[in-house]
Amino acid sequence: MLNIVLFGPPGAGKGTQAEKIKKHYNLMHLSTGDIFRKNIKGSTDLGLLAKSYMDKGDLVPDEITIKMLESEVNKHSSSSGFIFDGFPRTKDQAIALDEFLSSNGTEVTKMIALNVPEKELIKRLIDRGKDSGRADDQDENIIANRIQVYEKNTAILAGFYKQQNKLAEVDGLGSVEVITSRIYSAIDN
Ligand code: AMP
Repeated sequence: MLNIVLFGPPGAGKGTQAEKIKKHYNLMHLSTGDIFRKNIKGSTDLGLLAKSYMDKGDLVPDEITIKMLESEVNKHSSSSGFIFDGFPRTKDQAIALDEFLSSNGTEVTKMIALNVPEKELIKRLIDRGKDSGRADDQDENIIANRIQVYEKNTAILAGFYKQQNKLAEVDGLGSVEVITSRIYSAIDN
């Protein structure tokens, strides 16, 4: 199985690139943000709960997020691999991912970290907010909080995968196509 963790701050381009990677390598794309948004649309209990955190740009608690992702992985265990987009975002999530992949007889193959300077992230998120309809992309305070939460809780995960020799850093500036080809080279290497 090929299991890719696509990593980077909000606005780094994870969703756009995940769509390309999933087709190219025939992977199951799991985006925790998309799954939460689907639940919000469907007014499920999970959606209601997630919304209260997402509206502020805070992380949905680990216990809820991990359970939700684990059930998605188990649902698709016959796929040829996964691309994880927006997960893990905390050390406990990363440890849980290792555990439940290992109980499925597999592991994270590589973490692809997209590097984009903060100024560019804010610009991209505000641009995206104009047509995405996402409330968390339309308010500069929420955007700032999401970037802060990333720095505080999530950025350390690059070190977690580096220790396992699985980190590949990719320049996230340039055209979508150029970045995609950088990612393919990093995965194939
Ligand atoms: P995203 O679509 O990845 O930008 O995520 C949007 C929001 O969903 C985040 O700001 C969090 O509130 C929530 N979220 C997504 N993934 C996670 C995760 N792995 N852990 C906790 N919260 C998450």
